[in-house]
Amino acid sequence: MSVSDSPDRGGRLSAELIAVGTELLLGDSVDTNSGWISGRLAEIGVDVFRHMTVGDNVQRLASAVREAAARADAVIVTGGLGPTQDDLTRDAVALVAGVALERRPELVAYVTEYFAARGREMPERNLVQADMPAGARVLSPVGTAAGFAVAVQAATVYCVPGVPAEMRAMIAGDVIPELSRRRGAGSTVSRVIRTAGMSESGVAELCSPIVRRLDETQGATIAFLASRGETRVRVTVSAASRDQALALTDPVVDEIVDLLGAGVTGIDDEGVEHAVARQLMAAKQTLAVAESITGGCVGGRLVSVPGASDWFRGGVIVYATDLKATLAGVDQAVLDAHGPVSEEAAAALAVGVRQRLRADVGLGVVGVAGPTTQNGKPVGTVCLAVGLEDAPSATQTLQLPSWGRTELQEFAGSFALDFLRRQLAERA
Ligand code: ATP
Ligand code: MG
Repeated sequence: MSVSDSPDRGGRLSAELIAVGTELLLGDSVDTNSGWISGRLAEIGVDVFRHMTVGDNVQRLASAVREAAARADAVIVTGGLGPTQDDLTRDAVALVAGVALERRPELVAYVTEYFAARGREMPERNLVQADMPAGARVLSPVGTAAGFAVAVQAATVYCVPGVPAEMRAMIAGDVIPELSRRRGAGSTVSRVIRTAGMSESGVAELCSPIVRRLDETQGATIAFLASRGETRVRVTVSAASRDQALALTDPVVDEIVDLLGAGVTGIDDEGVEHAVARQLMAAKQTLAVAESITGGCVGGRLVSVPGASDWFRGGVIVYATDLKATLAGVDQAVLDAHGPVSEEAAAALAVGVRQRLRADVGLGVVGVAGPTTQNGKPVGTVCLAVGLEDAPSATQTLQLPSWGRTELQEFAGSFALDFLRRQLAERA
């Protein structure tokens, strides 16, 4: 019988993840390993029930492993397999498994050879990386650190290095195939519907009939995730095979896309910049941007799209007011009359940059990032304009909360790209 959170889980496997390192607790570095591993486990239909982070302390690490092993079928520990005094995963897991550490000759040979091949002297201390809890199965080393798998109560505890590239190689090469075999058939699929220009609560409200229905039928789970002005709707389905899971997911995705209509920018990895790219390619048009408040963040997102050179001419960061005139051709009279943060200035930027950079479409983004108001405009004021050939510029003013500079820039960038997307859609 498997000892997991619920007594009858229909043959499903459960997992808990433990990230090891005091630097993670201090906030010096962020645990990205657990998120990545969770994604891989979801793909093979293993349920992840907890993430824990523990510092470099043998007793606390041992108790975390003991607790996790009492609940889950699989425990995956990342980090603490290096050669230094604070690398304690081997000791802690041996303690919990109730076995001694033993030095493995084949790993001594491996570590020795690893250093020799690089023409480096091996520090004596590195030999501890050849120590494994008795009875553990070695997971092939990628760098100097070998991982291992060992039974603790009814669970299997997998220990892999903390270095992300080594962790990924060992998890993908060894741990996932093994858990996939143990789990048998079964897969969990997640698709993400991406929206822009809609609040998280607005999106959730529109989706609530679907969510209620799916809650009753248990067909799929829906989650709402908001970041930098974009809301994502994640649809997750578990089924006997990946194909079956996909077949169940697709109609739900289609239904949500219909419901959210013009707010949808794309599916999965396709954000608002990808939507703009598709529109411009379809219309065979090019784009130029003039940014003030976003300081290049809009241009940065545009060039992150592969093939951007086909439709992106370039951009100017016109932060100082006089550069709006000299670099983007804004009439000084417009700046004098309306101030640099105005729909008039944004429109003149959009038209000016379009002409100067010889593009079909121009985008102008101005705003007040703070810390103080500017010409009577409060922090968080953002004015956007799109200039298209033979059409009056479309403009919009937003009042964003005064979060802080970075958040303001990111949100303003998303809203600017979404404003452009909506203007292009109207003209298509
Ligand atoms: P090493 O042999 O390099 O010492 P290790 O298994 O002991 O490997 P750690 O010392 O715990 O791993 O971490 C090594 C580096 O890997 C850390 O400095 C950090 O940059 C990265 N790292 C560790 N844990 C994580 C994590 N959970 N998420 C992201 N990066 C991590
Ligand atoms: Mg280390």
